[in-house]
Amino acid sequence: MARKSLGNIRRSFAPWADPAAIPQVRFESVTKRFDDIAAVSDLTLSLYPGEFHALLGPSGCGKTTLMRMLAGFETPDSGRILLDGQDLAGIPPHLRPTNMMFQSYALFPHMSVFDNIAFGLRQGNLKREAIAARVAEMLALVKLEGFAGRRPDQLSGGQKQRVALARALARQPKVLLLDEPLGALDKKLREETQYELMDLQAELGLTFLMVTHDQDEAMAMADRISVMERGRIAQVGAPEEIYEMPANRYVAEFVGDINVFEGVVDEVKGEIISLDGRHGPIILDDPDPSLAIGQTVSVAIRPEKISITLEEPAQPTNKMTGEIWDIGYLGDFTMVQVKLDGEAGQLVRVALPNRSRRAERPIAWEDRVWLSWDVEAGILLRG
Ligand code: ATP
Repeated sequence: MARKSLGNIRRSFAPWADPAAIPQVRFESVTKRFDDIAAVSDLTLSLYPGEFHALLGPSGCGKTTLMRMLAGFETPDSGRILLDGQDLAGIPPHLRPTNMMFQSYALFPHMSVFDNIAFGLRQGNLKREAIAARVAEMLALVKLEGFAGRRPDQLSGGQKQRVALARALARQPKVLLLDEPLGALDKKLREETQYELMDLQAELGLTFLMVTHDQDEAMAMADRISVMERGRIAQVGAPEEIYEMPANRYVAEFVGDINVFEGVVDEVKGEIISLDGRHGPIILDDPDPSLAIGQTVSVAIRPEKISITLEEPAQPTNKMTGEIWDIGYLGDFTMVQVKLDGEAGQLVRVALPNRSRRAERPIAWEDRVWLSWDVEAGILLRG
């Protein structure tokens, strides 16, 4: 499938910011227990029409259970799930306007591609010609014209994924549920397929809810991400909000790489907070008036926000000295670890973009260096 540029469209898409916008799906105080484990705990979340929403979190945090409740495969113990204002309680999965694409694809091995896609349609009361037309439309949509007669074992992994997608879309669900949709594909194919799925979603104007434990995938694909922790939502927001303004330490550590520094609050002047850190003074810009002088806090700095220099930077704060401990060349960037000076010096990760091709690195193992960052780079961690 050809890749279209949807960047501008997606950037302006933010119905959740409009108080008058009506959600398509509402999870209202939903709880689901398995024995004594609350897989989903008093969770409230709205999804908007046309949104690509990712549920992100470590294994066992309740992502799949939340999605399965929307699909009708699990029943909430308490709370309600609404779709277009209708309470879904008691409606079986096949009568819900949702469809789920499973990670394993769950294709019928003995059936042709055509019959796999037609399967759900045959359970309705569509005529044969209408079914054939719909299957052909779906095959064209996923660029598999000419594959109708093949069996799943005659397809590549990527092609199987497309058949599963075509089958899930054939009955025209209002909300498509994707359980780790790219989990079985290799890295390169995964990246290509990400864009195809995003284009398809925008083209069809459908709401997608995707479960993933891969933060890069969620960041690249979703309009908004819910980061889940033990059955609850730790933060919901656009990828850049989650990354640049994580609500707490859990989110900051789960999404992206961070360095955490501890410090004692020295002074709070408007939004400027001064900390007495173990490796030097730290100054950050944060609109939190609730900090008390003498309080110990943690500050996160993303590796790409830190500069490394051989000379001392001119700025008076947010600079520390150390020694190059490790250099890992990762293609598009180099991850450098610096061991800060002092007893049990902390290891700090710094990401340096590889902008130009060069045979020699400007820094080398055991170099003595300065690390520095801007006042805006620090994220005050709560919780
Ligand atoms: P993964 O990424 O590994 O799929 P997940 O975030 O999707 O994880 P869930 O599958 O929703 O997590 O599981 C949440 C919790 O509920 C886990 O502790 C799991 O063991 C438990 N659980 C899920 N389904 C059942 C079940 N059918 N019976 C008993 N416990 C279950």
